[in-house]
Amino acid sequence: MKSVLNNIYKSSFAYTIINKDIQNNMLNHAYLLSGDDDALNKFFCVEIAKHILCGNDDAPCDECVTCKKISHSNCVDIKIHPEKNKNFVVEDANAIVDDCLIKPYENEKKIYIINNFENATIQAQNKLLKTIEEPNGCVVFLINTKNSNKVLNTILSRCKKIFVGNVSKENINLFLKEKNIDKADVISNISVGNLTKAIELSENEEIFKINELAISVFESLINSSQVLEYSYKFISFSAHIQTLLENLINVAYDIAMLKNGKQNTIINKHAQKRLENILNIYNIKMLNKIVEQINEANLKLQSNCNIQSVVDSLLMNILEAKYKCKQ
Ligand SMILES: [Zn+2]
Repeated sequence: MKSVLNNIYKSSFAYTIINKDIQNNMLNHAYLLSGDDDALNKFFCVEIAKHILCGNDDAPCDECVTCKKISHSNCVDIKIHPEKNKNFVVEDANAIVDDCLIKPYENEKKIYIINNFENATIQAQNKLLKTIEEPNGCVVFLINTKNSNKVLNTILSRCKKIFVGNVSKENINLFLKEKNIDKADVISNISVGNLTKAIELSENEEIFKINELAISVFESLINSSQVLEYSYKFISFSAHIQTLLENLINVAYDIAMLKNGKQNTIINKHAQKRLENILNIYNIKMLNKIVEQINEANLKLQSNCNIQSVVDSLLMNILEAKYKCKQ
């Protein structure tokens, strides 16, 4: 059976481009995939590798020996750089330059997947440049990046660019269900079309408690005597404070959408009834002010301010916004 991810690839812009290039026998020697969804970028590179090497009419078929080998990361003609959690450095580039001279073992082409090229050093990019400029006909480079501004222009100009967009909420839901992830519905709502986020959330056992806390801030935080209690709860999730702040923004967004009668666009569908019950407490000015405060807290955390003081002032500021913006 084909995986959901295979279907996602086949309905993508990337598939259309590669398919056309294969059909016209015009496969480029280097493709640069860019998009902010890191997991999707990497997954697309693997699917493209299958697409190029599969050879079946409905490539990537996901069923032939080649596709299966690639899915299980044991195809000898595919090299992935850099090693997980490392950056692409000169040693990686050197290894590729040398390896390019060796013909593929089992397939017509040899494929180099280079992940997170936004972190590649300038020296490593320069080292790779000559190989990309004068490629061996058997070689295809699949480079992915979250930020193409970090890629040297000389490399950019030699790659065919593919923009990797988002995944629909429905497909994320199917992907999570395929992996037997609990509460796939909630996670697919919260991850708003971002596969990386969906995977992170599914690995984070605290996510439901964090989501619940974010909703309860809007439901129950009404006076300053509760700040201590909420502050304590926030700090207990300090390792996931970013996720908590994102959840707070999502709840504010949902309340604004519900107030505007746009039920279909809300993120926390599982909590729609609860949010509808508190609609009258909020007005748009208040919600904007709250979101502003959350963004400010986020910036302070990024510049390493003390988390306890950031959380305390955020909670006080949310209360103040509720009080000041009352009509
Ligand atoms: Zn295949």
